[in-house]
Amino acid sequence: MKTILVTGGLGYIGSHTVVELLQNNFHVIIVDDMSNSEKFILDNIEKVAGKRPVFFPFDLKRKELLYQVFEAYEIDGCINFAAFKAVGESQEKPLDYYENNLFSLINILQEFKARNISNFIFSSSCTVYGQADQQPIDENTPLKMPESSYGKTKQMGEEILKDFATAYKKKVSLLRYFNPIGSHPTALLGELPIGVPNNLVPYVTQTASGIREKLSIWGNDYDTPDGTAVRDYVYVVDLAKAHVKALQKLMAENSDTVIDIYNLGTGKGSSVLEVVESFERANEVKVPYQICERRAGDITIAYANADKAERELGWKAETSLDEALRTTWEWQKYLESRK
Ligand code: UDP
Repeated sequence: MKTILVTGGLGYIGSHTVVELLQNNFHVIIVDDMSNSEKFILDNIEKVAGKRPVFFPFDLKRKELLYQVFEAYEIDGCINFAAFKAVGESQEKPLDYYENNLFSLINILQEFKARNISNFIFSSSCTVYGQADQQPIDENTPLKMPESSYGKTKQMGEEILKDFATAYKKKVSLLRYFNPIGSHPTALLGELPIGVPNNLVPYVTQTASGIREKLSIWGNDYDTPDGTAVRDYVYVVDLAKAHVKALQKLMAENSDTVIDIYNLGTGKGSSVLEVVESFERANEVKVPYQICERRAGDITIAYANADKAERELGWKAETSLDEALRTTWEWQKYLESRK
């Protein structure tokens, strides 16, 4: 049985991926500082997967604690989710973002180097493409330095990993997520937005449940069919499965150095209004909204060409927008039942 370190394994995408790993017979060790999660997620992972991962609550900047984990376990690979991810906040606290997202990454890579471990999967983002000149976006689309410090940590993380793989002959996979949405079909795992959500789907969900009065749609004068901005919303469980496939591919590679890069999206763009309509249809609820000015820094359109992931990993996003949004609503009801 292979042992995988999952950093940020109690987070949104991390927790779903841990379940998939456990269900595929990996031994999982989670390191998570709980800065954006809660302990019940660990219990729920066990409920869903029937196994409890090993869990260490600490900040990955604590090198000495990380060292002890690597001493205690023979680790075969890492999926690195641990990162701050609030775009707006990153503009106010850039140093916190660089320190947290990059120091923790480097600390793990130092352990990998010292112990001759390979197989590293990095959570990247379609933010590395900025507003691409062409749609859909494939992996050869030129990168543009993102505006936010958050986005920059993703692009810098990718560069660090490319150098790491090349210099030390390691296998890495950079997974560029489009917009992850939805919750586990059991309604036991999902996103835990802290405070007022910035992302569209958590805001829509909280509006439908009455926590927020109205959704603000940031702009309806974009050059898109209905004027609202277009994104590629990919179901989180589909996304989680891609991690397992990317890991299995890395582990099966014979060459010393591998740098895999995959876009993970559905290949279909949906506008903000289409998301609202889909949510209302799937859940038979109303989402009151108002049209507002554009949000600073937002791009008009981004959707993936994910053919490479299908070709090389045998992965394809399978879940419809309606279905993904139905799971989100079930998760919201679960959260409210816990209060
Ligand atoms: N959006 C919106 N109202 C909100 C949150 C988001 O209209 O309260 C829009 C946002 O302008 C963008 C889309 O929804 O066009 C997706 O935004 P999100 O922040 O979820 O993802 P990202 O902008 O990073 O793609």
